[in-house]
Amino acid sequence: AKWVYSFGGGTSDGGAEMRNLLGGKGANLAEMASIGLPVPPGFTITTEVCTEVTQKGGHPGDLAGQVKAALAQVEQALGMSFGDTANPLLVSVRSGARVSMPGMMDTVLNLGLNDETVEGLARRSGDPRFAYDSYRRFIQMFGDVVLGVEHHHFEEILELAKEDLDKSLDTELTAEEWRQVIGQYKAKVEEETGAPFPQDPEAQLWAAIDAVFKSWTNQRAVSYRRLYNIPEEWGTAVNVQAMVFGNMGDDCATGVAFTRDPSTGENQFYGEYLVNAQGEDVVAGIRTPQNITIAGKQKNQSDLPAMEETMPEIFRQLVEVRETLEQHYRDMQDIEFTVQSGTLYMLQTRNGKRTAKAALKIACDMVEEGLIDEAEAVSRVEPGSLDQLLHPTLDPKAQRKVIARGLPASPGAASGMVVFDADEAERQRDAGNKVLLCRVETSPEDIHGMHAAQGILTTRGGMTSHAAVVARGMGRPCVSGAGELRIDYKSGVMRVRDVEVRAGDLLTIDGGTGEIMLGEVPTIQPELSGDFAKLMGWADKHRRLKVRTNAETPADCRTAVKFGCEGIGLCRTEHMFFDAGRIVAVREMILAEDEAGRRKALDKILPMQRDDFVEIFQIMRGLPVTIRLLDPPLHEFLPHGEEEMAEVAEAAGASVDKLRARLLRLSETNPMLGHRGCRLGITYPEIYEMQARAIFEAACKVQKETGETVEPEVMIPLVAMPRELEILKELVDRTAKEAMAAAGVEVAYLVGTMIELPRAALLAGKIAEAAEFFSFGTNDLTQTTYGLSRDDAGNFLPAYEARGIVKQDPFISLDQEGVGELVGIAAERGRKTRPGLKLGICGEHGGDPASIRFCESVGLDYVSCSPFRVPIARLAAAQAAL
Ligand code: ADP
Ligand code: MG
Ligand code: MG
Repeated sequence: AKWVYSFGGGTSDGGAEMRNLLGGKGANLAEMASIGLPVPPGFTITTEVCTEVTQKGGHPGDLAGQVKAALAQVEQALGMSFGDTANPLLVSVRSGARVSMPGMMDTVLNLGLNDETVEGLARRSGDPRFAYDSYRRFIQMFGDVVLGVEHHHFEEILELAKEDLDKSLDTELTAEEWRQVIGQYKAKVEEETGAPFPQDPEAQLWAAIDAVFKSWTNQRAVSYRRLYNIPEEWGTAVNVQAMVFGNMGDDCATGVAFTRDPSTGENQFYGEYLVNAQGEDVVAGIRTPQNITIAGKQKNQSDLPAMEETMPEIFRQLVEVRETLEQHYRDMQDIEFTVQSGTLYMLQTRNGKRTAKAALKIACDMVEEGLIDEAEAVSRVEPGSLDQLLHPTLDPKAQRKVIARGLPASPGAASGMVVFDADEAERQRDAGNKVLLCRVETSPEDIHGMHAAQGILTTRGGMTSHAAVVARGMGRPCVSGAGELRIDYKSGVMRVRDVEVRAGDLLTIDGGTGEIMLGEVPTIQPELSGDFAKLMGWADKHRRLKVRTNAETPADCRTAVKFGCEGIGLCRTEHMFFDAGRIVAVREMILAEDEAGRRKALDKILPMQRDDFVEIFQIMRGLPVTIRLLDPPLHEFLPHGEEEMAEVAEAAGASVDKLRARLLRLSETNPMLGHRGCRLGITYPEIYEMQARAIFEAACKVQKETGETVEPEVMIPLVAMPRELEILKELVDRTAKEAMAAAGVEVAYLVGTMIELPRAALLAGKIAEAAEFFSFGTNDLTQTTYGLSRDDAGNFLPAYEARGIVKQDPFISLDQEGVGELVGIAAERGRKTRPGLKLGICGEHGGDPASIRFCESVGLDYVSCSPFRVPIARLAAAQAAL
């Protein structure tokens, strides 16, 4: 088998498309060499060898021979030989996986030096100081990354030497002085490892190669892979490359650059370099690097001259390389280069990391420049990253006084006066104040307060806590689990160390970083026109899936329309029940003894619900609106405490004692699997009847007044048995007929169901006899398929993730193997009964790109997600279709 691929000298065995085999670095070195860029020659040992080594514990038999031959080729190209005392070839040994991976072995430079070859290097270069500087670097790097002699041992020796010599900069040491240091370095290695520093270049080379392979399974690399879902099977490649020297004098340099500005995306060359330096000195921050361009120098207000001024010829070549690379890769590149005695060498290129803003700009600019087409541009922007662009963000120039940190639970920045109570939040909002709701944790009863607030801060709970999930859904910035903060509700104060924040004080949170700051930090508004609008337009052209939103408040509906939603996929009527002014009537309904009592309360709720729907239909003109009838367990609405009980008793004209008895009877052991969803509709049909009436009266009214069609889709939740849906569909149809007859208007509507129980998925064929659409409620479907409560998963799911039992939280990204199979089964069986059955998804997964890809693959008609995720879903849907 071929284990070794050569590159350099104008030709290459490999190329950019061989990333899996050669790793990113190796593949791109080969590619650069083959398009004629000046790459020092070398070779890449494939990732397959890494797999052999990790699995079988040894090298494949013919590896040594292939390495020898490849090394000979390099020697021949350069007219030098490895280990030669007169004109020694030196190499670097570099790791490189498919994706760049911190945590792997660091690069070893100057390999091949020993006590004799260093003299050869000194003679050849005519600069002994440079030769010894290179040797000491080699001992330090090789000692550290291959032999495990920690960095600090070498640092200490060097510091002491500098002190003795009364010198402050490394560059001030003479050849002789470096020789002294080298002696001490070697002694240190021997002391630490029990063996002298290896002098045989070939032994050095193999030790370094093996260290790279071994680093693939070290603890740091393993943790990194787990965090980013990188499979162990990929392995890493090893690149062995002839050294070029940026540390041979003042006509030498080393640097890094981006072909465009990685933070703004502007089409401007941007980079930094150091004169007379080697390797990663630029990033290591030993000296202040200089800018490559004059524009960069001015932008950074640097006093040091730019390369454009000091090395104009090299600069010109570098600009040419930039052109070549961008034309060739058709993407922004991140490059590493070295200048040896006035000659430029390229050492690395890869697609550069960039901010969301830059990604958007670069994609749009490159279409304009004719480098890529629209579809390619659509595929270039990571959908999740759009989140950064949709919310106001803190002005980067503003001062901030950070007092604590929590989890970055929902992106965006928010400032407001501190309130500790949901009702107070609403009152202050109504009084025209911006508020920040601060709670130990939140519950469904706080929703109105969360809505009234600019942002939410909790001191307890994780990324999937109630506060985090609801805030993301609402598009409110949220910092959760800020454990350092202590809230004292009684005295209305929040403390961290010696800082006290009182109710009414101004506070700012950054939901993207988790920072909590004193006072009001100025923010900047997102830019939704320009490149953003352009890219979204291209995405819309390429997607098949429609994108709807989960929304029930007018504000959320408007936001979603602004973000381009094509209807409502889930309108949760119960969220309207919590509003002040109606919760008492809702409680009255729940606590009523009999149907008559319930009807009396429902009569009070009807006009309010109708008004809600009128407003929603007006905002969603001409777009379908899926309304879910009452779903949650009734206990979520029950009164707490004496005061609330008395309030309800008065409204209902009943005694508190009676209410209390009823309350007791309503309590359930396991409410999430109890009396909820369509079970409420079956037992208390008058509730669903009232809701259906409100929907159709509103629809008739809006259609009549605006002349535009209203498209209600009435959704029955938690169906497990086909008969449940039949009964309730009949009820909805009858109510619709009555309402339409009374108004003298025909409204086209659908009645369908949520598929959120495994039994419903399996019986989808039967259920589709009555259902005109399915909406996959994948939150509950995940809970019921796993038998796992989302609210309790936090207790053990992290341990499962850490041990690799689950790859990802199934509440964040759809479990395609299990839950996904049920979705697939239900889609297929449903459509068999009713071809053209409308299919959608309305769980949190509707805004997750990987889950959207899955929805595309099973041919759903639409995804529905929270308003702020609509653009993300539009882009992800386009990428899934490409
Ligand atoms: P990383 O993956 O951390 O970027 P690299 O393998 O790219 O590590 O090596 C780090 C730096 O070492 C490079 O940026 C380059 O400056 C230097 N380097 C690597 N190989 C050579 C070489 N053959 N000649 C000169 N410098 C090199
Ligand atoms: Mg590095
Ligand atoms: Mg590099």
